[in-house]
Amino acid sequence: MSARELHCDTCEGVVLFEAPPCGDGHGADCPELACTGCGTAVLVVTYPARPSRRPVRRATHRHAA
Ligand SMILES: [Zn+2]
Ligand SMILES: [Zn+2]
Repeated sequence: MSARELHCDTCEGVVLFEAPPCGDGHGADCPELACTGCGTAVLVVTYPARPSRRPVRRATHRHAA
């Protein structure tokens, strides 16, 4: 039931992508979408809306004693 409009490089435009029959048991959560124009399958990963903050690693060089 998931369908959305995405840009397809092959179709060179925005086309409707629909979830293909999933054989992996993802069900409604299947991340795969297939272009209805050319059939290209893409993986759509939706990230939760969070501020993209990464923990900053200190690049201090430690010498082993
Ligand atoms: Zn799937
Ligand atoms: Zn396409």
